[in-house]
Amino acid sequence: MTATIQPGATLGVMGGGQLGRMFVQAAQSLGYFTAVLDPDPVSPAGRVAHYHIATEYLDEAGLAQLMQRSDAITTEFENVPAPALRTLGAHRPVAPSADAVAVCQDRAAEKAHFVRCGVPCAPHAVLVEESDVEGAPASLLPGILKTARLGYDGKGQANVTDRAGLRAAWNALGRVPCVLEQRLPLHREVSVIIARNALGHSVSLPVQQNLHRDGILAVTQVPAPDLDSVLASQALDAARRIADALRYVGVLCVEFFVLADGRLVANEMAPRPHNSGHYSIDACDVSQFELQVRTLAGLPLVQPRLHSAAVMLNLLGDLWFDGTGRQREPDWSSVLGLPGTHLHLYGKTHPRRGRKMGHLTVTAAGAAQARAVAVEAAVALGLPAF
Ligand code: ADP
Ligand code: MG
Repeated sequence: MTATIQPGATLGVMGGGQLGRMFVQAAQSLGYFTAVLDPDPVSPAGRVAHYHIATEYLDEAGLAQLMQRSDAITTEFENVPAPALRTLGAHRPVAPSADAVAVCQDRAAEKAHFVRCGVPCAPHAVLVEESDVEGAPASLLPGILKTARLGYDGKGQANVTDRAGLRAAWNALGRVPCVLEQRLPLHREVSVIIARNALGHSVSLPVQQNLHRDGILAVTQVPAPDLDSVLASQALDAARRIADALRYVGVLCVEFFVLADGRLVANEMAPRPHNSGHYSIDACDVSQFELQVRTLAGLPLVQPRLHSAAVMLNLLGDLWFDGTGRQREPDWSSVLGLPGTHLHLYGKTHPRRGRKMGHLTVTAAGAAQARAVAVEAAVALGLPAF
């Protein structure tokens, strides 16, 4: 896939969530028409795309329609069924490829890929059958049991401390294939977003630092405060090796742990733009979504430049409820009155606790100022300080 697809053509996306919405917005800025396939009639991306095909992901007529509309197709969530991507890939340029997405869909395959690339990951065991549960090395406990497939935002995971707890957790998760990981002493979490094109050229965003609450990303800070430059290059280099070995085309995010002893460990990867890269819309001269457009369309890739320090706060559905559980609209004026705030709402009509409704990016000339304003914004919205 090396031919350039010029603006004026139509770019399609499988999935209509907020990542698809921001991809569509970036594509539209560059003069592309856009098509979204998502079963939800009011999906965030479907609402802003030129064409919305509201069918299931494996619906043949829907896939045919998406192909008919689109000159090239990408995906916005990793659980798009691989067979759907294979069908599309037989007729249209599809990036990332079904094979690369398949590796990212399975924690066991993902970890095997890290190991193949010489990138350390958490000590782990793959548990498929009861005998694997009984035979799992005791050295992995206390650990975290994660379903091999379909987990996100801390879902499909359980903390386990002993063998009895492991058995119970495996049963509770439905006795599906799982990965048991040793619980590691995390000093901090960082991630790298890399974009790679069909010619094998890649560029990346600066290393971002991420804070999770209840398994969901809460805050991203860029530049990562006081991050050792050797560690930063290790992370960028690891992401490049991981993408190269997949012959990846598109945007890929690799999440890492920095351990208490300073070691860098790969956690997981996502074959798409990532929540931890949303700040790039407002703080970089090329956003992660424009990178996705450029890699898909075969446009030139240039190294993005971080022109402002940034802090991103995730806005979860919890903010749409007051202390008594009554639904309300958050007080946006209180944050929009602060300098350097960029509010992004995804157009979701039904707030739910834990649901990603939007994000707020604070940009400033320096990291200390970005952080100070972001803390002020967090407090104004009723979010914990960080
Ligand atoms: P998800 O797909 O839900 O993002 P992750 O594997 O990234 O799943 O886990 C979510 C969070 O749980 C991580 O960001 C980290 O904070 C914590 N976590 C996951 N694995 C480990 C581990 N092996 N040791 C310590 N903390 C972990
Ligand atoms: Mg994660």
